[in-house]
Amino acid sequence: MEAAWIDSELERIHDLCAPDVVVHDATNPTPVTGPDGYTSYIARRTDTYPDLDLRIDEVTAVNGAVALYCSALAGPGDPKNEGDELTFTGIEVMQVEDDQNVEWFGTLVEDTSLEAFVEGFHGRVIRPGDPDYDDARAVWNGVIDRYPALIAKSAGVADVMDTVNFVREMDMLVSVRGGGHNVAGSAVCNGGLVIDLSEMNGIRVDLDAQTARAEGTAQWADLDWETQRYGLGTPGGVVSTTGIAGLTLGGGVGWLRCTYGMTIDNLVSVDLVTADGDFLTVSEYEHPDLFWGIRGGSGNFGVVTSFEYRLHPVDPEVMFVEALYPLDTAPKILPAWREFMKTAPNEISSQAVFWSIPAFPDFPEAIHGEPIVATHCGPVEKGRQALASLRELDEPLVDLSGPAPFTEVQQLYDPFFPEGE
Ligand SMILES: Cc1cc2nc3c(=O)[nH]c(=O)nc-3n(C[C@H](O)[C@H](O)[C@H](O)COP(=O)(O)OP(=O)(O)OC[C@H]3O[C@@H](n4cnc5c(N)ncnc54)[C@H](O)[C@@H]3O)c2cc1C
Repeated sequence: MEAAWIDSELERIHDLCAPDVVVHDATNPTPVTGPDGYTSYIARRTDTYPDLDLRIDEVTAVNGAVALYCSALAGPGDPKNEGDELTFTGIEVMQVEDDQNVEWFGTLVEDTSLEAFVEGFHGRVIRPGDPDYDDARAVWNGVIDRYPALIAKSAGVADVMDTVNFVREMDMLVSVRGGGHNVAGSAVCNGGLVIDLSEMNGIRVDLDAQTARAEGTAQWADLDWETQRYGLGTPGGVVSTTGIAGLTLGGGVGWLRCTYGMTIDNLVSVDLVTADGDFLTVSEYEHPDLFWGIRGGSGNFGVVTSFEYRLHPVDPEVMFVEALYPLDTAPKILPAWREFMKTAPNEISSQAVFWSIPAFPDFPEAIHGEPIVATHCGPVEKGRQALASLRELDEPLVDLSGPAPFTEVQQLYDPFFPEGE
């Protein structure tokens, strides 16, 4: 992931500007393709600033992406600048495959506007070259290697509103980062601004209302920790390091799904900053259309700064079945499991998984097969009886079933999905 600065790449970059490129910029929703891609991107800039003198200051090339750090000087003849020379900075990122540049992302921002934004920001704005730039642009999926121009780590809602207004006025590409756990890495963008909520992760349980309010970047482990203190919970995902934000906005399916539904079934309201920079509370009763959209429509309806969830009783200890059967028994196991689930009580959420047993000390060495996994949300003894038949579908290779703390069940898969790999 480490960026190496290669000044000698400069010449190569100029050569690479000639082949076909796709230019993404916020004012042009249809990407420009063709040999003129880069030129047309610059032309849009020079329409506003006719004497723009654009320089490529630094170049870094990593894993097929080339990032250019640019600065520009607008001549005194430019209509917007009344005789003073305006300066700009930006980062432009080109994806290069087989020496063809296939996509180009870029933003140039007037220095005075950028400085005003940074000065008014209460959190931290991280730029290329800052010591924590590489850490701040890294997400859970270590394959993702993108170069944002700015990473705005918001301290609170006011920062989010200012950032949304700034990117809109600057026509910047923007992405929103919740837990940063999305496989596609959509939390970070090349050449644009990342609205990073990672400093906003407070959680408050309201026992009277039986609800919890969690800020936009909390993880499921955090929410489970706070709610289980009172024997409560709400449906999340099966990997506890997943962000509540992206998971909730995408629907949310986890171990409590058959008992209490999907995550969005338990969403009471959200606080959200719209693209206009307005702050709204959105629920079944306030802006119901928007509420419908965010429950499964993912992240494009605004920046959610906090989520309010309905809570339910969840026993601190549950019965968990993890019986792993050999692959060749699948034709027998799967129909039996399906029959079991047809009449299983709502307390049981179960999934059948085809998996190669990982080389973990919990598993006997050199066995590969498919586990059938089930969990039971309720008293342990009741669960043990209800789930017994899932452990006897055939001769298991290994049976790791037993009572377990609910928070442990929620984290059971975490080691299989380590960050950065
Ligand atoms: C190993 C693994 C296991 C998973 N298991 C489950 C599972 O059991 N159940 C399940 O339902 N899903 C599961 N997922 C999918 C997961 O829910 C999504 O990847 C989700 O997007 C992650 O949320 P995040 O906040 O961590 O992501 P991020 O990468 O931060 O965000 C992803 C996108 O969500 C949007 N977004 C994030 N935060 C906000 C916000 N505050 N306001 C507006 N938009 C926002 C943005 O568009 C952003 O690009 C799993 C994913 C992985 C990688």
